[in-house]
Amino acid sequence: MKILVVNAGSSSLKYQLIDMEGQVVMAKGLCDRIGIPGSLIKHNALDGRSVTREIVMKDHNDAISALIKVLTHEEWGVLKSLDELNAVGHRVVHGGEKFFKSVVINDEVLETLEDCVELAPLHNPPNIMGIKACQANMPDVPQVAVFDTAFHQTMPRKAFLYPIPYEYYGKYRVRKYGFHGTSHKYVAERAAELIGKPLEQLKIITCHLGNGSSITAIEGGKSVDTSMGFTPLDGLPMGTRCGSIDPAIVTYIMNKEGLTTDRMDTILNKKSGVLAVSGVSSDFRDLDEAVDNGNERAFLALSIFAYKIKQYIGAYTCAMGGLDALVFTAGIGENNAAMRTSVCKRLDFLGIEIDESKNSIRGEEIDISTPDAKVRTLVIPTNEELAIAKETQKLLR
Ligand code: ADP
Repeated sequence: MKILVVNAGSSSLKYQLIDMEGQVVMAKGLCDRIGIPGSLIKHNALDGRSVTREIVMKDHNDAISALIKVLTHEEWGVLKSLDELNAVGHRVVHGGEKFFKSVVINDEVLETLEDCVELAPLHNPPNIMGIKACQANMPDVPQVAVFDTAFHQTMPRKAFLYPIPYEYYGKYRVRKYGFHGTSHKYVAERAAELIGKPLEQLKIITCHLGNGSSITAIEGGKSVDTSMGFTPLDGLPMGTRCGSIDPAIVTYIMNKEGLTTDRMDTILNKKSGVLAVSGVSSDFRDLDEAVDNGNERAFLALSIFAYKIKQYIGAYTCAMGGLDALVFTAGIGENNAAMRTSVCKRLDFLGIEIDESKNSIRGEEIDISTPDAKVRTLVIPTNEELAIAKETQKLLR
């Protein structure tokens, strides 16, 4: 089965074509600057053939049409014709409370997706444009939607309801949704495979640490709590997002500085996080370099990040009444050994103990715990595209 995975943003569209037999990425690439002068497609085939071409792409429809051409192209293509393509799996950011698992897309699903737009006004509209463009350009190929929020729909009410007037939940659907669900689910399933126990018997904390970061408590294979909330702004401090802060700070600063809601929104989403604390960068590689050069604020930013992760590990271990495995994934979780060390320091009382020689190994699935540790601490590279392709395959079977 050959599955095209599409992640459509407002001006870019990333894709991977995966052959599920052997789970091989046959090709991957990016349509960039959609709707902006200088739009281009970058395409890489598994065997090393690659091409970057400027093509006029005024909308997502043009992007999908360019993508089909390159996938079936004589010189760079990997498919003889579109008939070889079995399905398309779309990453969709927000499925609200309507979608608690992936779905095959039909008219009713599309209508419900439109209904979720107000919950993710920046992300869902381009996701929907990507879906419609695929439907228009390949009407005979089944399309599947895989949601970032769906995995967290198993959270109990005590975890997802905010203690604010109850009517806002009914009127405006204000509740915790959580994000990165595809990644948390994927690494939890891999963790169970690596440990060699059924997922249903395990209590796992997954730390997805990238530009956006979130932590999830997974009990018996189900998300029971997660650190992102109504929006991806909540929880851990991130590259440029503040994470959880005292909500009264928002109105206090707005009054002091005479800020509009839009300006405050920009400050909390784009000008906060480790960028703001360090004054250096939102990228953890730059922060590590700054720390090496003696920059104290960069050190402080990293310390705050590690401290908050520790707090979530404590909170979620208590929420689940125990812990079998702690998983690190995404850019920072997979690559930043020093951050893993900081997070795990002094957690031996919980059963978390890591072996520094194993912790220094990069880029592979590895159990970094000491042999006697009660909790398995694992590094598992996430693979959201493969997870979307697997979901798509499962649904179409
Ligand atoms: P996104 O949320 O955009 O997918 P990533 O998962 O790629 O983000 O994570 C980006 C973060 O991961 C950056 O702060 C970056 O410093 C860090 N990172 C990515 N690759 C590496 C690497 N090879 N070594 C150290 N840090 C890395």
